[in-house]
Amino acid sequence: MKSRPTTRRGAPARRCGKVDVAMSSGRRTPPPSSPAATATMRANRGKDTRPELALRSELHRMGLRFRVHRRPVADLRATADVVFGPARVAVFVDGCFWHRCPIHATTPKANRAWWTAKLQANVDRDRRIEGELERRGWCVVRVWEHDDPHDAATEILAIVRRRAPRSTVKKREG
Ligand SMILES: [Zn+2]
Repeated sequence: MKSRPTTRRGAPARRCGKVDVAMSSGRRTPPPSSPAATATMRANRGKDTRPELALRSELHRMGLRFRVHRRPVADLRATADVVFGPARVAVFVDGCFWHRCPIHATTPKANRAWWTAKLQANVDRDRRIEGELERRGWCVVRVWEHDDPHDAATEILAIVRRRAPRSTVKKREG
């Protein structure tokens, strides 16, 4: 199966600081090269995914404090993967397949109509949540599965510092 991304949807606009894909401008992970890799990306959904763990470990190394899998806003049914409360920054680590990243989005050939609707619903939901959070003063950062975790964490560090200068804790030796 040669799955080249045929659909290229623009990423939703970042309104709170050139986040998103500033970080993917340089080192890009190539598209999944084999059906096995694609299957891995598809299965790679839910909590504590590999890209999520990699990002969290980078953020931690940078001395940031954060919560994981929290609702940024109690009455909004949306759980962010990483939440910086005082800075009001919500980070979503999104799988390229499920959230239709502009580089790797594909639609399975079998049950195509179903998949198209399903994936589009995910994208619509992402945008709706993003809009809601931003209206409530949150900065939404979307990190793609294919983003380099260090680059992504560096961007997030800058945003968090800008919004809450005391968010960084001093690292202890050892
Ligand atoms: Zn991608």
